[in-house]
Amino acid sequence: MKKSLVFMVITAMITMMVAVTGCSKTETETATDATVVVLDKSASITAFDTALESEVGVEGLETLMQCAYDCLNALPAEELSAAEIETLTYVREEEYLAHDVYQALYALYPVPVFNFISNSESLHAYAMKVLLDKYNLPDPAADHQPGVFTNTQIQQLYTDLVAFGSQSIGNALTVGATIEDVDIADLIDHLENDIDNQDLGYAIELLYKGSRNHMRAFNAHLVFRNITYTPQYISQELFDQITGSAWEIGQGFCACQCSATTSAAATFTE
Ligand code: MN
Ligand code: MN
Repeated sequence: MKKSLVFMVITAMITMMVAVTGCSKTETETATDATVVVLDKSASITAFDTALESEVGVEGLETLMQCAYDCLNALPAEELSAAEIETLTYVREEEYLAHDVYQALYALYPVPVFNFISNSESLHAYAMKVLLDKYNLPDPAADHQPGVFTNTQIQQLYTDLVAFGSQSIGNALTVGATIEDVDIADLIDHLENDIDNQDLGYAIELLYKGSRNHMRAFNAHLVFRNITYTPQYISQELFDQITGSAWEIGQGFCACQCSATTSAAATFTE
């Protein structure tokens, strides 16, 4: 009780100091001390937090993982091409990259968006694992340790993104947008060029939808802090289209079971 009172007084003093210098928002942008990161929210941040929490809070996450397992195993097992195997293997670690970076940033900045979205990324990584197991493929992230990757390109991205994000909360949120930018570009590329299997296609579409929502959430935080994110991997047009459209609600993997089971029964002969 006393501790929190002291913290409140310190926070009030900092707020006053900032108010006196006439930059009411800059403490959130320049703070290097995580305890000074202000958790003020815009209405859109609050709305995105609520949406994320209802989807990937602890209870929601467990249900979604069970749905992912049921859904992806119910869809027919079809022969995988070399490109599909490569996609599955790469995306498995790419989703862990997002998860691990967001957890590392959440440890530095107590902004719930990092934690919620990292939960979503663990679901995405799990969906790839379900498919690796379904097709008896080796898991590049077996015994995964946070921040340690088999793919050297992903390893380098982790190192660079965490280093940049550690400099300020503004950088950390920019890292969030950058990861979603990379993910969206990669997922579209896989969908257009690499995938014809129903199960992998269904999973990658859901990962893409997740990334669009994540981009919306990170961008709301960036806008709140007067930071303009310039997309580096997707087009400005697509970025504007995604961030300018509403949060996409849906049951995700939980919606696919009924429709999948019927068609799977006949072809699921493995
Ligand atoms: Mn993801
Ligand atoms: Mn994401």
